[in-house]
Amino acid sequence: MTKASSQDASRAKSPSLESPLATALSQLRRAIDQLKLSENDWNTLSTPRRILEVAVPLRRDDGRVEMYKGYRVQYSTTRGPSKGGVRFHQDIDLDETVALAMLMTWKCALTNLPYGGAKGGVAVNPKTLSLAENERLTRRYTSEILPIIGPERDIPAPDVGTDERNMAWMMDTYSVNAGFSVPGVVTGKPIVLGGSLGRTSATGDGVAISVREALKLKGIDPKGATVAIQGFGKVGYWAALALEEMGLKVVAVSDVSGGVTGFKSVTDLQKYAKENGTLSNAPGTDGLTNTELLHLGVDVLVPAALSDAITEATASGIKAKIVVEGANAPTTPSGDAIMNDNGVIVVPDILANSGGVIVSYFEWVQDKQNYFWSAEEVKTNLSTILMRAITEVADKAKDEKLTWREAANMIGVARVAQAHRLRGLYP
Ligand code: GLU
Repeated sequence: MTKASSQDASRAKSPSLESPLATALSQLRRAIDQLKLSENDWNTLSTPRRILEVAVPLRRDDGRVEMYKGYRVQYSTTRGPSKGGVRFHQDIDLDETVALAMLMTWKCALTNLPYGGAKGGVAVNPKTLSLAENERLTRRYTSEILPIIGPERDIPAPDVGTDERNMAWMMDTYSVNAGFSVPGVVTGKPIVLGGSLGRTSATGDGVAISVREALKLKGIDPKGATVAIQGFGKVGYWAALALEEMGLKVVAVSDVSGGVTGFKSVTDLQKYAKENGTLSNAPGTDGLTNTELLHLGVDVLVPAALSDAITEATASGIKAKIVVEGANAPTTPSGDAIMNDNGVIVVPDILANSGGVIVSYFEWVQDKQNYFWSAEEVKTNLSTILMRAITEVADKAKDEKLTWREAANMIGVARVAQAHRLRGLYP
């Protein structure tokens, strides 16, 4: 069942140029070199520890049976149970899941959460599933990965294409098999099932804090500063709302259908998007393409959709002074290099979007204690943890003349390497 074979590891290590996995591995290599760590450290840290690939059969509503590929990658368990989302997207594959699980590892270490890193998913377009089909697929996927998850082993959460409904079904499937309620097996659950206040908006809230702090460090007053956001889903919408509340001006947002500008408020736009299933043609707005949105003359650009948004082709047209990565891996290495040459400050994904896993951690702690916090407590503690990480990254970048991405990776990787050294190698 568990396939941590060297064949898988080598498959995972020969990805195409600029794939998310090639990008993640080259960033790890750089961090290891900059930290002057050893080849033993590289070998230890560049290898995913457990990979499970499963076939997920789905009975469609019309009686047909289809097979989907599912994955769960536990990249690291050195600093605690592995942690990370479950993605439902037609394009996911093993390499991308390994890359995203690696990013979760550095993200949890950077924010000092007591976790390793994981990621999972099913290669399916959730928009093609009825509600009942989505439930059956989620439950079967959960039962396929059941032996390797659990509150002390590996704790899934929502990611692209999944939400609190999927987490409720995952929690139920696990609990029914255990014979009792196990709320701590997943985070991002509905509140009544042991979810945490503030989890739904947490990633966006964290993105907004990152935008505000990066602006301040650049000497720009956040009040009235302009922002364009690519994506208007679980991250982009909440970030837009929080930024508006902080007094910034969100001038453009987009979804898969394209972007809009000229709207009065994010709340009105969300209402339209909910009713119509798209942002396009929202009353009083002008349309623009996703590339036009990336190239707007704004103070801050937030890519909050999928990976590979900022590439060699799109990076040179970026006019924003600051890019805050709401999505995981939205920038390719050549896109990154162009932005660095142009003096753009990039707040990397493992810092900028860490609000989600930080509040997931709070949810897990609350589930363990059966004692639930107020929204205010969640907000204050999120801010404390994130601000500590932002300050640490910004200070290191300044002191050692590094990019924020280099500084963030170095802090995360150094913490995992240190934990490895202190635990030693068994036997
Ligand atoms: N999927 C989110 C991420 O990429 C959240 C993971 C979690 O809460 O465990 O950070």
